[in-house]
Amino acid sequence: MKGLTFKRGIHPNYRKDATAHLKIELMLPDKELVFPMSQHIGAPCTPIVKKGDYVYVGDRIGAANGFVSADIHSSVSGTVKVVEPRMTLRGVKDNCVVIENDGLYAVDENKESIKVEGMLTKEQLISCVQSAGIVGLGGATFPAHVKLSTPEDKKVEYILINGAECEPYLTSDHRVMLERGEEVVGGLKILLQVFKEAQGIIGIEDNKMDAYEHMCKLVEGTSIKVQLLHTKYPQGSEKHLIYALTSREVPSGKLPIEVGCIVHNIDSVGAIYRAVKRGEPVLSRIVTVSGKGVKKPCNLEVKTGTSFRQVLEYAGIDWEQTIKIIAGGPMMGTAISNVDVPVVKGTSAILCFTEEEAGLTTPSNCIRCGKCVDVCPMGLVPSALQKSAMNGHYDEFLKQNGMDCIECGCCAFTCPAKREIVQTIRTAKAAIRSKK
Ligand code: SF4
Ligand code: SF4
Repeated sequence: MKGLTFKRGIHPNYRKDATAHLKIELMLPDKELVFPMSQHIGAPCTPIVKKGDYVYVGDRIGAANGFVSADIHSSVSGTVKVVEPRMTLRGVKDNCVVIENDGLYAVDENKESIKVEGMLTKEQLISCVQSAGIVGLGGATFPAHVKLSTPEDKKVEYILINGAECEPYLTSDHRVMLERGEEVVGGLKILLQVFKEAQGIIGIEDNKMDAYEHMCKLVEGTSIKVQLLHTKYPQGSEKHLIYALTSREVPSGKLPIEVGCIVHNIDSVGAIYRAVKRGEPVLSRIVTVSGKGVKKPCNLEVKTGTSFRQVLEYAGIDWEQTIKIIAGGPMMGTAISNVDVPVVKGTSAILCFTEEEAGLTTPSNCIRCGKCVDVCPMGLVPSALQKSAMNGHYDEFLKQNGMDCIECGCCAFTCPAKREIVQTIRTAKAAIRSKK
């Protein structure tokens, strides 16, 4: 069967073999867990606990600050040590709640559950998803309840579940589909109960045929479709997934609902199932730990708040050989210099690269080969955008639709001069946003 896809894009070396066959292992954390109050796109949470408070597993410790924000919960039981700014993955200090884990994983049996019994309304669904602190667990960390709060005049025609997992190395979604596929289908069924007229489609790249076949079996007898996608990066980008699955194009600066779509990640829709059916907030996430710098590549279920250092030591990091550590995938992830930062809701992978994998090179002048233009999935001219950005010509940058750049890295990947196109564009976008 031929997989659907989008225009342009690239075929990097996927290097998923090291972990694709490895079952998810539960890793229990050490004594101290750090919970940043900013784990999502939107306003940071307000801490609602103080030093000395006892918290149970699942207790809310950070309250959402406004609609575009998501609650934060303790993944362990124990005592609040301190509430203070600590270094986080963002490379800056954020306000954090630090909890001393008592190792009991005690649950407060008297706490009111967010679970919803029977048929739920759209309002109940939104409230439950927000209370569970569910965000885009593919890495985007956009609060999931915001996506579900569709305007009354917009019809939801498709609910698309992103099982593409197009970033090299990453296999956490692949394993979730194989090992926890019932939760994914269960979460999608809940969404389809609320958005009754929508068609549910799960899109899976054709380098995960075992997951595709397994999910096809799980949806038998339902209206849900499982669609094979051609393996190509960035297939999992929201706009490109929509195009591949529905042939619809999201206009510049607009959201998927403009073309009748809601898109959720595999793990996020599983989290919706766990919230609605079991009353469970987001307490952990599945993290692929890979790269030649680790002796034991793995897919781990890691409690949020656990330090990167502990995860890396669990996977047998070779500190001597590892020259680059990336949080997330190699295309869109962030290189980090401090491993004493916590795993948060959006941490899909931790990659440890040796010199050979990191492929560090020095950028040289643009040779105007046009290769970056050929691969840009947004139809932009990356070389021209970089030039405008470097010269601070932001009006020009806007005219060239620079804000549409999804920072996928296809241009930099293909550039023979190894120019730092994405970093330059990202900086320009941030400068334009802050000016606004
Ligand atoms: S310009 Fe942006 S969207 Fe286009 S390839 Fe480069 S990073 Fe991707
Ligand atoms: S791929 Fe690199 S060298 Fe070629 S046009 Fe684009 S920026 Fe210039």
